Amino acid sequence: MANRIDVREWPAAGGVARPRAFDRMAASLAPKPALRADMEGARRAASVGAAIAIEGVSVRFKRRAVEVVAVKDVDIRIRPGEFVALLGPSGCGKSTLLNAIGGLIAPTAGSVTVDGRGVREPSAACGFVFQHHSLFPWMTARANVTFGPKMLGYARADEIARELLALVGLEKFADAYPNQLSGGMQQRVGIARALATRPPVLLMDEPFGALDAQTRSIMQEELLKIWSEFKTTVVFVTHDVDEAIFLSDRVFVMRAAPGAIKEEIAIDLGRPRLPDVMASAKFGALRKRVKALIRHESMKVFEAG
Ligand code: ADP
Ligand code: MG
Repeated sequence: MANRIDVREWPAAGGVARPRAFDRMAASLAPKPALRADMEGARRAASVGAAIAIEGVSVRFKRRAVEVVAVKDVDIRIRPGEFVALLGPSGCGKSTLLNAIGGLIAPTAGSVTVDGRGVREPSAACGFVFQHHSLFPWMTARANVTFGPKMLGYARADEIARELLALVGLEKFADAYPNQLSGGMQQRVGIARALATRPPVLLMDEPFGALDAQTRSIMQEELLKIWSEFKTTVVFVTHDVDEAIFLSDRVFVMRAAPGAIKEEIAIDLGRPRLPDVMASAKFGALRKRVKALIRHESMKVFEAG
């Protein structure tokens, strides 16, 4: 089989050994040949993002005898190709809701569908980018990006990686290992990797939260450029008010304990959007409104200890 996954393509390197568990995982994921042509065709065809329907979603966790309602009765409909932010103070349930959308957590009640298909487990429909990069440390940037497409059996994996690393401005760093890259570069590789299988949905959990202010601002602008090219539906989690407004079509402000949607705010700023917009009166008014909502929720979290 020409496309068979061979883990020896990714030798222990970059100062980090390749774990055995990875070999087992790679072996168990080796794609069926029949799937390949279809999936790659789907990748080319997918030029718009998926619609997401979150209906009556609640997530409860039990910690010893204590039950935490992390997310309660959330209903959101997201249009194909829309960019939405989930905004709220730390601990209000943003990550839990995002993980439920991506199938990493099963909701206790309600359902999530992506283009009408029920989400029950993680799938190629949703790409994830987390706050701390989750790149394979023993693989080069290029290998990290080709990994997903190879797992899915795409014949053009190397070409896809070349395109995407160029898109995030890292073509010169394709052979670098994650620990040789700055935090901003690691997140760029993470975005390239998440997009490499051309998912119709991109789920981002505070992806720029660990970056310095300058890098963060550049990354936000870059993300909007990439999004305008890929037309992927993006759900972006942040606790940064300016970041949420700058990036999004709609901002969902969450209330804490239990996590629910407090208010939905349409961001009627034009696109393409440049950082200058943050100095505009319209942006200022949105910021003021959102900050008042957030402050109220943060006080509640603070007082609850
Ligand atoms: P955010 O991302 O907004 O900071 P989270 O979604 O991580 O918030 O958490 C929401 C609430 O759910 C918090 O009270 C948190 O402690 C709780 N929680 C999150 N994950 C778990 C878990 N696996 N088990 C128990 N409680 C959890
Ligand atoms: Mg979180």
